[in-house]
Amino acid sequence: MHSFRLPYCLIVEDGAFMRMDRLLPACVADIQKKKILFVTEQFLKDLFADTIAEVQKDLQHCDLYLVEDSSFDIAVSLAKYLSVKDYDVCIGFGGGKVLDIAKYAAFVAKIPYICLPTTLSNDSLASPFSVMATDGHNRKTFGCKIPTGIIVDTEIIRAAPESQLKAGIGDTICKYTALQDWKLDAAKKGGRVDDFAYMISEMAYNTVAFCEERSLKSKSFIHILTEALVFGGLAMEIAGSSRPCSGSEHLFCHALEEFYPEIKISHGMAVAMGSIGAGIFQERDVSKLYRLCALYGLDIKPSDYGITKEIFIDAWQRAQSTRKDRYTVLSETDLSAERLGCIYENMENQPV
Ligand SMILES: [Zn+2]
Repeated sequence: MHSFRLPYCLIVEDGAFMRMDRLLPACVADIQKKKILFVTEQFLKDLFADTIAEVQKDLQHCDLYLVEDSSFDIAVSLAKYLSVKDYDVCIGFGGGKVLDIAKYAAFVAKIPYICLPTTLSNDSLASPFSVMATDGHNRKTFGCKIPTGIIVDTEIIRAAPESQLKAGIGDTICKYTALQDWKLDAAKKGGRVDDFAYMISEMAYNTVAFCEERSLKSKSFIHILTEALVFGGLAMEIAGSSRPCSGSEHLFCHALEEFYPEIKISHGMAVAMGSIGAGIFQERDVSKLYRLCALYGLDIKPSDYGITKEIFIDAWQRAQSTRKDRYTVLSETDLSAERLGCIYENMENQPV
């Protein structure tokens, strides 16, 4: 039977990063006696110089390590550095790129990993996976462990651009179609849908779909979105797979990343866009997805990102090829250029 673990602590507070001496012992016992490596990138080091200085001051032995890119090779070098220099704890401070590298490196070095996100743009902050470039644009998903602790400073998140929160919402509402694809895969291939993981991922969706707080930068909404993203990570950990959070809408996003790297769109917005097509293929009520996108101001109009009708059609037609091992609705639906062209036109003409 698949075993799983949960983070020891999840702290969401205003000004949390300025109180690390009091908060970190909840994540790792005797942390003041441990040798810690604080991993971030140059841009964030400059932007949050005071915060980082405060964290370092709060901890007895805390060194800084800057990563330059999100490649697998960099994660392996970091893992080697952690092991050779005998670090006891790895702290990741940043967005998806830094956090994925720090999480994977800590996993390889077999030491606790504390996640300090500076944005809430996707559910990888609490997931047992890291997505990193292997060569050039090819991004690959590597299994690792969920963080030992997650500390969210709502003041820091509030300072990030609102588009990043919208991306986090996109990565949450797409669970509507991901869960359906997971059930379909299990039915067709005789697999099993883990009821508990399913329920937690559904809770993530419901948390955002039925939220009454409309101010994205309010403390309560940041709390709600953090919970939703962490629920997503836990669902993946419990299922031992990303299936509770990743279906055909994610394959559309992977196809864009792989075949059209020049398209600049965040992961969260690409999967929100993909969930419209996936929902139509699944014969679901996509009006509720359109409504949610409008409610939170998510722009899912393809042309706004330079996605032409040709690119849209090609990305959908090649989406399944990005994960051949997964059965999704794409394996059994009409993906003719004519049908996809109609979906594109419909998305282009939705009122914003
Ligand atoms: Zn995602």
